[in-house]
Parts: sequence; C-alpha cells; structure tokens
Amino acid sequence: MEATIGLEVHVRLRTESKLFCGCSTETVGAEPNENTCPICLGFPGSKPMVNRKAVEHGVRVAKALSCGLVPEVRFSRKSYFYPDMPKNYQITQYEVPLAEGGYMTVNGERIRIRRVHLEEDPAKLVHVGGDITSSRYNLIDYNRSGVPLAEIVTEPDIEDTKEARLFLEKLGVMLDHLGVYDPHAEGSLRVDANVSVDGGSRVEVKNITGFRNVEKALTFEVVRQRSMARMGIDVSRETRHFDAETGSTSSLRSKEQEEDYGYIIEPDLVKINLRPEWVQGIEATMPELPDQRTRRLVEQHGISGFQAGVIVEAGLAMSLFYEECCRLYGDAGTVANWLVTYLLKSLNYMGLMLRESGVEPETFVELLTLIDEGVISERTAKELIKDYAASGESPRLIVEEKGLALMDMDELKAVVSEVVSMNPKAVEDYLGGTGKASEYLVGQVLRRVRARADANVVRKIIIDMLDSNEGNASVAQ
Ligand code: ADP
Ligand code: MG
Ligand code: ZN
Repeated sequence: MEATIGLEVHVRLRTESKLFCGCSTETVGAEPNENTCPICLGFPGSKPMVNRKAVEHGVRVAKALSCGLVPEVRFSRKSYFYPDMPKNYQITQYEVPLAEGGYMTVNGERIRIRRVHLEEDPAKLVHVGGDITSSRYNLIDYNRSGVPLAEIVTEPDIEDTKEARLFLEKLGVMLDHLGVYDPHAEGSLRVDANVSVDGGSRVEVKNITGFRNVEKALTFEVVRQRSMARMGIDVSRETRHFDAETGSTSSLRSKEQEEDYGYIIEPDLVKINLRPEWVQGIEATMPELPDQRTRRLVEQHGISGFQAGVIVEAGLAMSLFYEECCRLYGDAGTVANWLVTYLLKSLNYMGLMLRESGVEPETFVELLTLIDEGVISERTAKELIKDYAASGESPRLIVEEKGLALMDMDELKAVVSEVVSMNPKAVEDYLGGTGKASEYLVGQVLRRVRARADANVVRKIIIDMLDSNEGNASVAQ
C-alpha cells in the first residue's frame, strides 16, 4: 500500500557486557534485576565506560550500510522522566552520530540511511494484568538497562508498506551475516515506524517487534490516515502504539519535539578517536554480505539470480545449509531446485525456521540420493519432503516406515495383470477403440500401488499389455 515511510530500527548488539558497565547482557534465564550495578541503575556519581566491542559492531553495521564514519565518537544525554530510565536521561548519540549517509537497496531501489548511532537500552517494563494501556501496575526489570543498541534511521524513502517489510527482512539478514545480533533473541530488533500519506502529517508507531507486525501496523495507519483525510479531518502528528492482537494502532501521546529532550554532550565520557588503522582492521575482517553472497552463488554454482536471492534472503543459516548440501551432493542446481521449490515452501508453510526443523544437510542430500537411486519417484519425494521438513527424520527411514519405495518391474507387472483381468469391460472398450478406457485401468493400478509406482510407467505397461497378446489372453480367461 502506497505511503511515505521512514524507519528507526533498534538492533540489540551482541556483546557479553553492557554498553557502559561490565554487567552481563544476558536477560534470558536471569532473575529480574540480577545483572545490574550502580552504573546501569543510574546511581549518582557512578561513571560509565564505553564497551569497545559495541563500537566495533556499530562500525561494522555502518560500513555494511555504506555510511561515512565520524572521526570522533561522542555520546549525549537525552533527558526525560520515565521509570525505565532511572538516571532520568538516556545515553545516546544525537549531535554527532557514529555514522551518516548510507543506503541499502531493496528490489533495486535505494533506501537512504540517514544515520547509525549507538545508545543504551532502557529497562524493561512488565505490564501486569494487561498491556501498556490497561495494566494494573508495572514491574521494572533493569537487566535490560544499558544493553547496547544500534539505531539505524532511514530517510523517508520507503514508498509502500510491503517494501518496509522487505527492507527489514534484508536488514535482518545483513545483520545476521555481520554477526552483530542474534535474530532469534526476543526483541532483538525493534522498530519505530513513521508514516504519512499524501503529504499529511506523519505518525510514529513506536516499538513494534516482528517484520510482519510492522507491515500490519503501517497498513492499518495508511488506511486510517486516508479515511481521515477523506472525511476532511487533519491527521495529527502523534506517537501511536501498535496492538498485535487486534492489528490496530492507538494514540499514546502527541509527538514530543527533539528540543524537549534538552540534549547535552555526555560529560562523563571522553570522546573516542576512531583511528583509521583500527577501522581498517575491522573492514578487513568484514564477512561476506548478502548481496555479495547472492552474486557469488550465481557465479560459483551456476544457479539463477532468483534462486540465489531466495536462499540468501532466507537467512545466513539457509545459505550455509545450501552450500554444505552442494559440497556433499555435487549437483548444485538440483540442490537449489529442491531447496527453493520444495523444502523452503514446506518450512514456510509450517512456519518453521530451518534451525527449529531438525533438517540437516546430510539428510536432505539423502532425499536427493533416494531419487537418483530410483528408490522413490520424484512425485513421492515431493510428498515425502513435507514429513521430512516437519520432523527432520531420515528420508530413508520415512520411506521404509511408510512403504514408499518404488516396486520393482515384475511386482508392478503382476499388479497390472491382476487389474486387467479383473476389468474385462475396460479392456473390451479399449480394444474396441475407446482409448481413454486404459486411463481407468491406470487409475485402478495407482489406487493399489499408490506412490510406489510412477503413473507414466504404469500407463506404458498397461498399453503394452493391452496391445499385445497378453492383453487379449487376460480377457479370454
Ligand atoms: P524525529 O526528530 O521526530 O525523530 P526525524 O526527522 O528524525 O524525526 O525522522 C524520524 C523518522 O521519520 C525518519 O526515519 C524519517 O525518515 C521519518 N520521516 C521523516 N519525514 C517523514 C514523512 N513525511 N513521512 C514518513 N516518515 C517520515
Ligand atoms: Mg526519532
Ligand atoms: Zn551494570
């Protein structure tokens, strides 16, 4: 749906300790408020120190998005009062972001990146007995307070709601390649989505998790804003909340202006020079990025750009899976066909991630080998792959358990003879010139043997049998 959209994406950076203290960033399995200290609890007099690893990750993100880096990194205080922020200010970057002026392409369109900056995550509010608008009271978990985030801000270059989702999916795969974030950790990527229609005021929908939810929230907003405009009501500049349950947005507050935050440069942190040699060291160890990987898969494995794109966009794990299968199996084209057309489709249909499915390169290759060996037909393989994707069980075992192996010729011919002798009328019709009568027989045989024979093979045996004396002999019995 057409609109003007700009995204502010908060990515939780994968570091062991927090951005300004030594506390663990582990939030899963930790007791509430276990990983805290005077710095991340904002005690007066506590002094922050910058986590080098977080800056390194930020530089990787900036470089991957073709941004220009600032020579000197500074942090700022963004002042506001909220229980998730005990210092009453968040340490972020405002006047001088880590990096500016990059882009990422989505379907050939450039989406400009305005800035990439580092900031600390506030604490987590736990809404008890409801959500942000209806809860009876809130609990606060400061384990998340001070966890490093990179905020990536786009220009309003995104022109439709679906493009916003594609942008995020591609960004997610890129960040996964960079090794700077954990795509599977809850809330590791949160989005503030800004949207306006037909030159009207923009609305910011805060803190959405899940790429599909972003698309839904935006679509809801576009419809809402359009219908307001049609009724002659001005859309007001405000911040809204997305409710994933109902798929709707509701007003949180009218939009605050940046000057309300009274930014000042953080006086407790020194500026950090990004030495060119240090930056070059990081650049030298940049991993292969999704677009490069797509091009290489095409060149190295001779698969189509479409197939390579699908594999790469399915995530880093899927790319590695594909290449491991190629190594084990040899024929990269066949692997790509079966992977893209059948395996991915089955996984998507069941809403399973590769890593949740139990599917492994060894067993996937086993499936392809079963076809090559003539143990199963392609048709059976296409059915079997659904069970395989669901369970990850060895295809050879599934074939045995379900009796899916192709029959040998003699066995199959015996079944055909039996069917032919049991259906004299069809045989008579066929011999009398009703060609399609043989199809009835094919159907009867397939009903008995199911997946264990190929329809074309069965058809050929029947026609041969009917056209020869054998067929006549059967009728005469
Ligand atoms: P703020 O200062 O309110 O955060 P910014 O100018 O920093 O606003 O922009 C925040 C986000 O809003 C950016 O991602 C930007 O692309 C987006 N944005 C700016 N103008 C528009 C618009 N007219 N429609 C939709 N999004 C917009
Ligand atoms: Mg903003
Ligand atoms: Zn701490």
